[in-house]
Amino acid sequence: MTAPAAMPAVFLGHGSPMNAIEDNRWRRGWAELATAIPRPRAVLMVSAHWETDGLHLSSGEAPGTIHDFFGFPQALFDVRYPAPGAPWLAERTAGLLLAAGYPESRLRLDPERGYDHGAWSVLLPMYPQADVPVVQLSLDRNMTPRQHLALGHALTPLRDEGVLIAGSGDIVHNLRVDFRRPGVEPWALAFNEQAKSLILAGNAETLSDYPALGPPAIASINSGEHFLPLLYALAVRREGEAVRFFNDDVFAALSMTSVVIGG
Ligand code: ZN
Repeated sequence: MTAPAAMPAVFLGHGSPMNAIEDNRWRRGWAELATAIPRPRAVLMVSAHWETDGLHLSSGEAPGTIHDFFGFPQALFDVRYPAPGAPWLAERTAGLLLAAGYPESRLRLDPERGYDHGAWSVLLPMYPQADVPVVQLSLDRNMTPRQHLALGHALTPLRDEGVLIAGSGDIVHNLRVDFRRPGVEPWALAFNEQAKSLILAGNAETLSDYPALGPPAIASINSGEHFLPLLYALAVRREGEAVRFFNDDVFAALSMTSVVIGG
């Protein structure tokens, strides 16, 4: 058996669940990404749509598909993403998190957990055959952004084991803005640019301390859960490693900007 490929890490701005089934440039961007990087042995997915008290890992052999939204066409509720789970990866990830000091009493393997739309809406375009195993890691809602960044760093060895670490959220995500109004909120555009500059400069710590970045950052990040998955991708970046952006679009108060670390 050949050694697994060293994998990049990615953050995917997922936007609307409809991107899973609509043909548009963002969906095509995700599909192109999958062809541009080595095929992973498995995906470790950190989605904005799984927040828990403590840390949970999906550990089932055959996770179901969760339709965690409402008000969308039936076609979206009909989507199934039958990628196998990877209990070995859930165990391996748990081991890394515990070794990094995360308390065992707060860590839980969940064999019942399925894939939420933050996961499957991007994985379906990337791996439409659903033949790459997936494990989801939740967001512990008790942690600060800086703590998420530090914890994410512990996942770095997985990149050399053929695992694609993928965050799925949105750098800018504020649904209190009226999306029927044309154009983009200036503060949303400003923060998206600021975030990209900090990422290019390798300054994830400053980015994670976002309340100090001022009103555009606070309004853009809003409730936080769509921003935090970005920190898991940045946390596993190695010194001097290349970074690139794609799907770099902002509209209203939502950013599709996606990040590739080392690929
Ligand atoms: Zn979302």
